[in-house]
Amino acid sequence: DRGADPLLSVDQALMQFGGLKALAGVDLTVRPGTIHGLIGPNGSGKSTMMNVLTGIYRPTGGSVTLARGQGTKRLDGRTPSEIAAAGVARTFQNVQLFREMTALENVLVGLHHSFRGTLFDAILGTPRRRREEREQRARAMAILDFVGLGALAQVEARNLPYGKQRLLEIGRALALDPVLLLLDEPAAGLTAPDIAELTTIIRKIRDAGITVILIEHHMDVVMGLCDRVSVLDFGHKIAEGSAREVQADPKVVEAYLGS
Ligand code: ADP
Ligand code: MG
Repeated sequence: DRGADPLLSVDQALMQFGGLKALAGVDLTVRPGTIHGLIGPNGSGKSTMMNVLTGIYRPTGGSVTLARGQGTKRLDGRTPSEIAAAGVARTFQNVQLFREMTALENVLVGLHHSFRGTLFDAILGTPRRRREEREQRARAMAILDFVGLGALAQVEARNLPYGKQRLLEIGRALALDPVLLLLDEPAAGLTAPDIAELTTIIRKIRDAGITVILIEHHMDVVMGLCDRVSVLDFGHKIAEGSAREVQADPKVVEAYLGS
């Protein structure tokens, strides 16, 4: 049953900073087409896991493997751009947009990674180049519509309300055409209506066939969205299961109370 094969397999991920093991040998299996929650108290290693998965940190030990077609591809030891090209996109815990650029331009930056024109086309502005540019703008607009920002395409990122900036970050990540999207606390600092909109969009992303790993503090968002949840505490995975199961797990309750 190929459908049951994991999209992402993390085996004994170890991330050591001096004497501190931010990840102390963590296994993680993410099934395709799911929203996989990653939760845990502050400092438990969630963002470190994101940074290991996207090549910002090179793990001290263990392996990260992504399913690709009929085969697999090792991601550990690769650069962030190689990992992005393999189909893994992310947003950051703190919004990182090009603030002076419009929403549309921010998404176009993401798309340019996949631009196929030659230098010759770029210098001479050939018909092929102009056609590709039109297509890129149409794709960028489609992505903005998908995240509910179509009407704000020409607004500079810094002038968007905070909730819209978070959606734009997701749009820019989607421009990479990922198979796996990593979201690091996307609901942090958002109002209740913004969280409702975000939740709808994350569900739409999953329904479009993109697998999602979601780091989130809001337990109601985790409960409403996640097909499966892994819980970290002090760099160890202490629980895993459905959102309902982990929420009722005494080890999880204790970890949060102790924090
Ligand atoms: P979380 O995202 O779950 O709140 P982090 O992954 O950011 O936790 O951090 C886990 C632990 O690793 C913390 O103790 C943090 O201080 C430490 N840590 C994370 N990144 C670094 C780094 N670059 N250098 C040193 N320590 C780090
Ligand atoms: Mg974090």
